[in-house]
Amino acid sequence: MSKVLIIGAGGVGGVVTHKCAQVAEVFTEIVLASRTEAKCKQIAAQVAEMTGRQIKTAQVDADNVPELVELINRIKPELVINVALPYQDLTIMDACLETGVHYMDTANYEPEDTAKFEYKWQWAYQEKFEKAGLMALLGSGFDPGATNMFTAYAIKHYLDEAHYLDIVDVNGGDHGYPFATNFNPEINIREVTADCRHWQDGEFVTTPAMSLKESFGCPEEVGTYNIYRMYHEELESLTKHYPSIKRAQFWMSFGDSYLKHLEVLGNVGMTGIEPIEYKGQQIVPIQFLKELLPDPASLGPRTKGKTCIGAIVRGIKDGKEKSVYVYNTCDHQACYQEVKSQAISYTTGVPAMIGAKMMLEGKWMKPGVWNMEQLDPDPFMDDMNKYGLPWTVIEDPDYDLAH
Ligand code: NDP
Repeated sequence: MSKVLIIGAGGVGGVVTHKCAQVAEVFTEIVLASRTEAKCKQIAAQVAEMTGRQIKTAQVDADNVPELVELINRIKPELVINVALPYQDLTIMDACLETGVHYMDTANYEPEDTAKFEYKWQWAYQEKFEKAGLMALLGSGFDPGATNMFTAYAIKHYLDEAHYLDIVDVNGGDHGYPFATNFNPEINIREVTADCRHWQDGEFVTTPAMSLKESFGCPEEVGTYNIYRMYHEELESLTKHYPSIKRAQFWMSFGDSYLKHLEVLGNVGMTGIEPIEYKGQQIVPIQFLKELLPDPASLGPRTKGKTCIGAIVRGIKDGKEKSVYVYNTCDHQACYQEVKSQAISYTTGVPAMIGAKMMLEGKWMKPGVWNMEQLDPDPFMDDMNKYGLPWTVIEDPDYDLAH
């Protein structure tokens, strides 16, 4: 019997709400709150139509701790699922501490004025959550999230020691627009325009954004795509928790049209995060750009093709070199049929529901602040197979992303 409060009614919030509603034996009551309550009501109506379940909704400004505290005290959930933006992580964590409620999210905190992901701000809450007897689960989306689980699973079951890690995120979907982002445009563009950092022999090495490209042939005929090395937040926690890793890299696929638009937008200053003055008004260029771009939640009906996201882990087993590739492929149109969303929000929302389920069922519940790989991957991986994200293991695959 568990009541959850979901905060954030965007693409991911919609999927989490649908998926929690489908698992009524765990999520007995669901409340969806966000800045714009109309969006919550829209999702609630869709969920009622598709599952017959009634979802309550509320309005909240998640930047405001007293407002969050008032809402949480009124709802009295067991767990808050934060799928608003990374800017709200700390205020929601503060409100959870004040009200004695467990916390989870899908993306690490990022200050609005610095485009830099780092876990240090959230790891600093370890003692506070531990002392309060509360749990905070960080990064339970796909990447981070499922990719941490794939890495942990490969190491637990196939390797004695991990040495090299390559996480490869391919989106083979086509939405037909010359330029659109699959999740929040502001967060997405901040992420892909940031300097690349990869882990090499005990430290992060910085290289220019998009400066290293490879070709990657996906399994299951998803296709062959250009992938670019970039920084992604799970590299920080995975290299901390698996110190035997010598090199860890993250790769993402981008089409030529996306990269051309991004380059031009960057050159003319449209991706800037510093406010500029326009006719007496302060405008942040990237926020203005977000208003012009298609809403990621609207891409669902138009996106065709598949995603293929996985982790290739190389290391030693019984004194011999071994490598393992664990991956999932997900079809955009199948996701749309099930929950009215494209696969990027789907692949994030399903692991968010499963992470919450792991906590509420007590399989993962322990006080403190935890990254996914610090918890047992087996029950989570079982649930990925059950709830829409089945995965496959290829032993000793023919991939070489060495650099
Ligand atoms: P959207 O922009 O579609 O949705 C964000 C939602 O949060 C909106 O409903 C927005 O409200 C709400 N929100 C924003 N600010 C506030 C606030 N101050 N108070 C209350 N609500 C607020 O984003 P996505 O759904 O695409 O992404 C959600 C989260 O998931 C992000 O943190 C993103 O980084 C993360 N993510 C993680 C992935 C992973 O694999 N780990 C992959 C993709 C996303 P409004 O409607 O009023 O704008």
